[in-house]
Amino acid sequence: MTACEMCGKKPAKFNTAIEGTTMHVCADCASFGEIKGRSDVRIVYKEKPKFEKKEPTIIFIQGYGARVKRAREKLGLKQEEMAKRLNERESLLHQIESEHLKPSVELARKLERELHVKIVEEISDEESHANPTTPLHAQKNSAYTFGDYIKKR
Ligand SMILES: [Zn+2]
Repeated sequence: MTACEMCGKKPAKFNTAIEGTTMHVCADCASFGEIKGRSDVRIVYKEKPKFEKKEPTIIFIQGYGARVKRAREKLGLKQEEMAKRLNERESLLHQIESEHLKPSVELARKLERELHVKIVEEISDEESHANPTTPLHAQKNSAYTFGDYIKKR
C-alpha cells in the first residue's frame, strides 16, 4: 500500500487536489483539498528518487580508524600535523581515528590518498544486505514529508 503523501503515516486512499497538485493522501489528509476520486493506482513520481541503483553504497571498513592511525604513525606524523595536511581540525581527525565519527566520503578519499590505505568500500545493493556495517546512505527515507512543508507555511 502506498503511504499518504501528506502525513506519510496512513495508507493513501484518495486522489486529492491540494494547492493545484494532485496528491495521493489518506482519509484524514483528504480534507486539506478537493477529493477527485479514490486512488487505486500506484504513484508515478514526477521526479525520480535521488537514490538510484547506479550509485554505489559506501561503507567504512571495520577498523578504519585504526587503519588511519597506523598509517599516520607509519609516516611519523602527529595528529596535529596530519590534520594540517588534510586541512581539517585535529579534533576531527581524533574522532575519526577513535571511530567516534565517520568522515565524509570526500574526506575518506583524501585520507586514502594521503595515507595510502583503504578505508571505504563500494558495494552493490545485493551485498549491502548481507553486510552488517551501516551504509553511509542509510538515511534514504527522509522523515520530511510534503505534510511538513504545508504545515510550516
Ligand atoms: Zn495523511
